[in-house]
Amino acid sequence: MNSLAPRTLSSASDLAAAGLIAEDEAADVARVTARYAVAIPPAIHDLLRSSANAPALMRQFVPTSHELALAEGENDDPIGDHAHSPVKGIVHRYPDRALLLPTLTCAVYCRFCFRREDVGGAGVLTPAEMDAALDYIRATPAIWEVILTGGDPLILSARRIGEIIRALDDIAHVQVIRVHTRVPVAAPERIDAALIEALRSTGKAVYVAIHCNHAAELTPAMRAACGRLSDAGIPLLGQTVLLKGVNDTPEALEAVMRGLVAARVKPYYLHQLDYAPGTSQFRVPVEEGRALVKSLRGRVSGLAQPTYILDIPGGAGKVPLTGGYVSEENGSFAIEDPTGTVHSYPPAPSAETDDA
Ligand SMILES: *Cc1c(COP(=O)(O)O)cnc(C)c1O
Ligand code: SF4
Repeated sequence: MNSLAPRTLSSASDLAAAGLIAEDEAADVARVTARYAVAIPPAIHDLLRSSANAPALMRQFVPTSHELALAEGENDDPIGDHAHSPVKGIVHRYPDRALLLPTLTCAVYCRFCFRREDVGGAGVLTPAEMDAALDYIRATPAIWEVILTGGDPLILSARRIGEIIRALDDIAHVQVIRVHTRVPVAAPERIDAALIEALRSTGKAVYVAIHCNHAAELTPAMRAACGRLSDAGIPLLGQTVLLKGVNDTPEALEAVMRGLVAARVKPYYLHQLDYAPGTSQFRVPVEEGRALVKSLRGRVSGLAQPTYILDIPGGAGKVPLTGGYVSEENGSFAIEDPTGTVHSYPPAPSAETDDA
C-alpha cells in the first residue's frame, strides 16, 4: 500500500505518530483503544489539522484516559436497547417504528457514543441474520417506519444498501425509511451517485438524519454531500448531541443550528447525553441545556430550533426536556415569552367590549 495514501487512524501509535496525542499519553490511550473502538478517517483528520475549532473536534474524536472512569449512573445499556431487541439487529421499543442495525461499524467513533459498548466489533449482520430481522419486520404490521442505524448504515456498499432498501420496499406496511448517519461529516466522499441511487431505489419516503455537533463539521465537502442528497429529493434532518466543551454555549449552538439549516438540513433533535460508560466529561446538566435551548427561541429562526430530547435511562422512551413557557392557573394559562414576560391565555376580555 502507498504509505502516503490517506488512511484511517485507529491505534494509540497511529494517533501519536499523527501528533494527535503526546507520546507519553500513548500507553494510557492504548488502554482505551483496547476497550473502545477508535477511528479517525481522513476527512476528520484533515479537519483536526486545519480547523480553528480543533478543540471542539478533538474532544469528540480523539480518545483520552477519562473514558476509563465510570461515573455514577453510567452503564453498558443506557437506554435499554437490549431489553427491546426481539431478534438480532432489531430494536423495537415504540409500536409504529423499529430500528434495523445492519452493521455496528462506523466511519468515525465518537467518544461519547451511547452505543459505545456495542459499536466497532464484528457487527455486520450475516445474510441469515438479516433475513431473520427482515422477517420480524414482515411479520409485524404495526411497523410503519424502519430506522436504519448502527453503527453507521452508510458505511455499507451501495449494492448492500440497495438490497436492504428494496427488501423494505417490498413490505407493504413499511411506508417510511429513515437512515441515521454520520457519514456526511466523517466520510462525505461516500455520498456518491451509486449510494444515492441505492437510497432512491424505492418509491417510499426516505429520510436521512445527519449527526452533526459543531459548525466546524459543516465543511464544504460535507455541505456538498448534503446538497447531493437534497438534490436527489431526500429530506434531511439534523441530530445533535449536547456536549460540554463542544457546543454548550449559546454561540456554538446557534452556529451549528444555523449551519445545518443553511445546508438544507432541518434540526430535529438536540440530545441530552446518555449515561454511557466513561462519558462524564461531556455531560451538560439539564438546567443548563434548558437555558441554552431557551436562548435560541425568539432570537434564531424557527427553522433552527431542534427539540431538546431525553432518552429516559432504562428504556422508557424519548421525551422533550424543553419547557418553562407554559403553566396552568385556574383553567387559564400563564405563558412566558422569550424575554421572560408572562402573558395570560386566553387573553383577558377587553374592558371596552360593552361600549363597542
Ligand atoms: C430513538 C429511537 C427511535 C426513534 O424515535 P423518534 O422519536 O421517532 O426519532 C425509535 N426506536 C428506538 C428504539 C429509539 O431509541
Ligand atoms: S457515529 Fe453514531 S453510532 Fe457511531 S460512534 Fe458516533 S455516535 Fe456512535
